[in-house]
Amino acid sequence: MAQLGQDIDYAGSDLTLVLEPVMISQVKTCAWRAKPCGTCGRPQSNKIHRKETGSCTFKKQLRCARCDLPKSHPDHYGAPPSMNILGLGKPRVYQNLKETWEALLAGLLRESDLPRGLASVMVEGEVSFGDEDERDQGNHRMIVEKALGDALEAGEWIPNDSWDHYQFNGFRRIEEPGVSRLRLILFPSTLLIPR
Ligand SMILES: [Zn+2]
Ligand SMILES: [Zn+2]
Repeated sequence: MAQLGQDIDYAGSDLTLVLEPVMISQVKTCAWRAKPCGTCGRPQSNKIHRKETGSCTFKKQLRCARCDLPKSHPDHYGAPPSMNILGLGKPRVYQNLKETWEALLAGLLRESDLPRGLASVMVEGEVSFGDEDERDQGNHRMIVEKALGDALEAGEWIPNDSWDHYQFNGFRRIEEPGVSRLRLILFPSTLLIPR
């Protein structure tokens, strides 16, 4: 059985791979801000947009007021949001959030050197929210743990995200003032022998 960091002769090919830890990281470079009304240029909260008494019907503009990119652009994502256990009563909210994060992490995995067809992956996470607010680790960890497992399975890095093939271990908080960031260090184990 091959060990971490050891050269492996990929059975049936001349490809030699070294299984080293791989780091992926997501940093928020723009704090999303909604654009004002497309008709009058005032914010949605302005009294001119009140249903009965207002004189303007708010016209939503989709892109960010700061960078002009869509809300779904990776620049707007850093530390994972809180998935409060009570929020689980709203399956659609959870599902949307999970899919957004799965797509984000899948993009980072594709750009990384992580080889596909691994027997298993162990993960250590690190997060910075950019402030000192008290937070419940579990609420933030949950969305990453779930979305990463699904992304690893869907992209065939691992056979599935069950216990034997995927383990999300530590989730340390290392604050850097003003920086919203998620860092994941993936420790791949041996490649599965191709059939
Ligand atoms: Zn308006
Ligand atoms: Zn922006």
